[in-house]
Amino acid sequence: MIKTDICIVGAGPGGAATALKLSHLGIPSVLVDKAVFPRDKVCGDAISGKAATILRRIDPAIMERFEAASQAIQTEIWGIRFVSPNNKEIDVPFRPGYDTGKDAKQGYVSKRVDFDHFLVQEVAQRDNIALHPGISIDLIEKTEAGFYLANKEKTFEVAARLLIMANGANSHFSRHYAGLEKDEKHHAGAVRAYFKNVAGLHPDGFIELHFLKDIIPGYLWIFPLPGGHANVGLGMRSDHISQRRYNLTRSLTEIISTHPPLAERFKNAQLQGKITGYGLPLGSKKRRISGSHFMLVGDAGHLIDPLSGEGIGNAIYSGLIAAEQAQQCLEREDFSSKHMEAYDERIGRVLGKEMELSYRLQQMLSRPWLVSLLANWVTRNQQLIYVISQMYANLAVRKRVFYPSFWLKMLISGGKQQKSKAH
Ligand SMILES: Cc1cc2nc3c(=O)[nH]c(=O)nc-3n(C[C@H](O)[C@H](O)[C@H](O)COP(=O)(O)OP(=O)(O)OC[C@H]3O[C@@H](n4cnc5c(N)ncnc54)[C@H](O)[C@@H]3O)c2cc1C
Repeated sequence: MIKTDICIVGAGPGGAATALKLSHLGIPSVLVDKAVFPRDKVCGDAISGKAATILRRIDPAIMERFEAASQAIQTEIWGIRFVSPNNKEIDVPFRPGYDTGKDAKQGYVSKRVDFDHFLVQEVAQRDNIALHPGISIDLIEKTEAGFYLANKEKTFEVAARLLIMANGANSHFSRHYAGLEKDEKHHAGAVRAYFKNVAGLHPDGFIELHFLKDIIPGYLWIFPLPGGHANVGLGMRSDHISQRRYNLTRSLTEIISTHPPLAERFKNAQLQGKITGYGLPLGSKKRRISGSHFMLVGDAGHLIDPLSGEGIGNAIYSGLIAAEQAQQCLEREDFSSKHMEAYDERIGRVLGKEMELSYRLQQMLSRPWLVSLLANWVTRNQQLIYVISQMYANLAVRKRVFYPSFWLKMLISGGKQQKSKAH
């Protein structure tokens, strides 16, 4: 029986970040994962600027090592190409006036088999993290002092005062112990495939989001990977999948072989492996994600952004916050549900507001005609592209889209641009 203050279940980005932050705080932990790394994880593989920023906050050397790692495991990302239902392409750089010669990139695309392995290697270097790969935690019981955890055979047993569950979207604990039921309006399904030789990828490594008429409010993505590969996928909110009896795998195959501009680009592309799918528990519904002696991190805490489907950054961020909360628990010898509320409050403050806004935007962009209208407008208005570019990093700017005065201002500036062009 391993006796520890802190046991983390799941060594994906959420669990690994929690262990790394604890390690930097000088707090030992036990980290268990059922997989042996490197292992695959169904994902779009886009690592946002937020993920990179929080990893730097944990330890700047982590991102330095990631950036220095072979270009074979990551592509630098400089912006997003949006494609509207009426086939308008809008390139929005992550920073206004970007220049690929300078350090203005805001993200990466890295296959999860590589990225997660990189993080687990970081974990393995820390003396105060006891990493146990290849162990599935199948039994969890509440005890007076915390939790008892074991694999099915009980050949691996842990007694922990604090349990941090970071075991992903299908967390049994999260659903059955913490009570986070699946709610289709706040859940999405997505499939992803790897392709080689997709034509027409953006020369500066922009990721592509295609809002096609038949799949809105979902979207199709094409994310460039090293070596001429691309991660291609299709995602949609689960209630829409159920209502339409939508088959994501079949639709993805159909779209890339029949949709005019895409079919041309995929004419000579080769599918690498299979098309695979997984669920995305979205953070658009406020839930309690902690309790007496436990916290939920990442997908186990339903923390995926409801608009973009980004979950890696939020998993890492929640891991950092969970580690700091764990430090408080140990210092005060308080693991009570009441004390754990501080974790929920901080998550609500730093991630909740952003996800609330994303949810409103998700609802606003669920109408194909509106997306096309906006696309027409944006392509004619450089000022609007500049503002959208600022929205990635600035929540206050993002909020402005809900004020009529914002659109009025944009309308006026668009009109002025049209006039000056005419002159
Ligand atoms: C199709 C798709 C596309 C996506 N695209 C993106 C994207 O481009 N960018 C982005 O940021 N996010 C994306 N996401 C979301 C992202 O994949 C998740 O938010 C992210 O993986 C969450 O990290 P995590 O550490 O919480 O969980 P995970 O990465 O799922 O890690 C959980 C870990 O727990 C382990 N585990 C599970 N059960 C047990 C157990 N019983 N015992 C021990 N270990 C266990 C697993 O082996 C795993 O290693 C996508 C999701 C999907 C499905």
